[in-house]
Amino acid sequence: MNPHEPAGQDVLRALAEELRQFRLLCNNVPAALAYFEREGNTCGYANRAYAEMFGRTEDSIIGLTVAEVIGEEAAAVIQPQVDRVVEECVAARYERHLRAPGADARPIEVHLLPHLDDAGKAVGAFVLISDLTRHRRADAALRESEERLGKFMHASAEGIVFHKGGFITDANPPLLELLGYTLPEMMGRPTLDFVAPEHRERVAAVIAAGDEISYDSAVQHRDGTVIPVQFIVRTMLFQGERQRMTIVRDIRDRVQAQARIHHLAHHDALTGLPNRLAFDARAQELLTHAAACGEGVALLFIDLDEFKRVNDSLGHQAGDVLLQTVAQRITDTVREADLVARFGGDEFVLLLAGDPSPQAVQAVAAKLQQAIGAPLQAQGASICVTPSIGVALFPAHGHNPAALIKHADTAMYQAKAQGRAHVCFFEPAMAAAAMAELAMESRLAQAVREREFVLHFQPQMALADGALLGVEALIRWQHPQRGLVGPDDFMPLAEARRLILPISQWVLHEALQCAVRWHATGLARVPVAVNLSTLQFQDPSFVHTIELALAQAGARGPMLELELTERMLMDDVAAVQVALRRLKALGVVIAVDDFGTGYTSLGHLKHLPLDRLKIDRSFITDLPGDSGSAAIAGAILQLGRSLGLQVVAEGVETAAQRDWVGAHGCDAQQGLFVCPPLPLVDFEHWLRAR
Ligand code: C2E
Ligand code: MG
Ligand code: MG
Repeated sequence: MNPHEPAGQDVLRALAEELRQFRLLCNNVPAALAYFEREGNTCGYANRAYAEMFGRTEDSIIGLTVAEVIGEEAAAVIQPQVDRVVEECVAARYERHLRAPGADARPIEVHLLPHLDDAGKAVGAFVLISDLTRHRRADAALRESEERLGKFMHASAEGIVFHKGGFITDANPPLLELLGYTLPEMMGRPTLDFVAPEHRERVAAVIAAGDEISYDSAVQHRDGTVIPVQFIVRTMLFQGERQRMTIVRDIRDRVQAQARIHHLAHHDALTGLPNRLAFDARAQELLTHAAACGEGVALLFIDLDEFKRVNDSLGHQAGDVLLQTVAQRITDTVREADLVARFGGDEFVLLLAGDPSPQAVQAVAAKLQQAIGAPLQAQGASICVTPSIGVALFPAHGHNPAALIKHADTAMYQAKAQGRAHVCFFEPAMAAAAMAELAMESRLAQAVREREFVLHFQPQMALADGALLGVEALIRWQHPQRGLVGPDDFMPLAEARRLILPISQWVLHEALQCAVRWHATGLARVPVAVNLSTLQFQDPSFVHTIELALAQAGARGPMLELELTERMLMDDVAAVQVALRRLKALGVVIAVDDFGTGYTSLGHLKHLPLDRLKIDRSFITDLPGDSGSAAIAGAILQLGRSLGLQVVAEGVETAAQRDWVGAHGCDAQQGLFVCPPLPLVDFEHWLRAR
């Protein structure tokens, strides 16, 4: 207050206003404030917060001593601080607990400031108290949470790393183990240093965006190994700062399991080669690429010849070994960039990329034939298989995998038709042929259902006296549009599509009925010969089928003659012997048809219960002029005689041929010279006319 100013109403009012504002201020700061006089240690001023802290009002506290306000005990404790403030004229700060009756002790922070007079002597002290309860709670909570986090981090089996601004601030033992580093080695280093290179861009983007997400990525071990992981990223308070916490989950097992499932779905379990599904996808990619570069591609369809025979005769295990070996041989023969797949069964497909010329494809096919055809060991047996290969070229023969596969398959069938172990390039005419064959197949199936077949009969006559020795039944297809179709035009297809069995069954039944009738009427007391197909003879219940057919027709064994080819005799030596013995026991006559065209070993023939050899027509046609034919026919006749077998000459068309075979000891002739194959009515007429 300025003493020179005259006292007046205005001044008093101004003073009162100033005091009001002072009180307003003091009562609204979030602290307890008081002033104690040095003289008597009494309270000169206290704001409301201070007074209430000690259970007083602003007025009633004035004049009370420190001990009266805070209690004797507390006053004694703080006395040294008070002494220091007033005697040394310095500020003091201390913390203590405030114990109010009926309440928990509260932590408080006390500041004491000396009030100095003009001479610099302390005449009192200002007191400022702040309540520490809230701070303490926050501190404790923070400590607890960090402690919890620390415990969690160390207890976790999963890797955990903290990083701030892209630099590592902490990591737990599992993470250190996963990456092969020590904590000091990792601390402070950029997080990205430990991420696999091809994943760094993505991880950097996630860090920059501050996203809280989970995603699959990969880390890199100290030794360079890339380890697939899942990152689970959160932002959280750690060590008093906002940091990024990343859980690093090792997902190698999951990735491996997924890879395994993927492999199983896309690969053939037996050979490990891609399957059709995988092939189609990869082939499409390769074709798209080739199209973009203007390059050609070759697709080779490889089918093993007679694989079924290996499987049937040596068993499935041998078949499996064979397929595995062939798969390996194909893979070894072609280049890394070429695509090899197994489509199931004995079918392999090969895609040659890189614009190969037809000559190059031919060269690869030749190498494949050589590699696949080499003998191999399976189940103790040495086996040889040859491949038939069909080739389709991109873009000439098709623009997608499906079209190329179809056309290569067609070409492969063509290769088989050429006598196996061949390579055929697709030609558009083949597609037409394949279509025609397909139409024929369905037409043939219909013919089987509707029995559009007839038998013609051709006699076999003794050369010595012209007696009837036998009758061969020969099938024809009575085609509604095409007329009479010969067996060579439909039997191969029937055999390939397994329609041969019902057809053969029909032939057997028809032929036996005729034989029974001719025997009964005395028209012909000779066996009727029926040609067998390979499939029919390979059927394990074949002999039983014959027994049944004989019984059904009311026929005896000797009324039936079965014509087998040399090939059938070679198939499974032991089984053939057993089957023939059983047939012999029934009295059935057994003949070897088209003899001389196969490779029957003599040693083998000797052990089979045969009755007749039929010299193939091709050796008779050029008799007597052709010396080669004469040599072979002569040898067969000699062989037959030495084995005690009857020999029949097929396709005898001229008197000269008849004379030649007769002169060389042949027993019978069959051919146009005596009689062509005739329809039933005509043949019975011929029989009667004799
Ligand atoms: P294959 O068993 O060798 O039958 C003899 C074939 O020679 C018959 O042909 C017959 O018509 C023909 N032929 C007979 N004499 C002469 C002749 O003097 N000169 C000429 N050039 N040919 C003559 P076809 O009937 O066309 O039968 C062809 C083949 O079809 C048969 O050859 C046989 O292997 C097979 N075949 C016929 N019928 C059946 C059958 O019912 N089942 C089976 N699985 N195959 C049959
Ligand atoms: Mg025959
Ligand atoms: Mg024949």
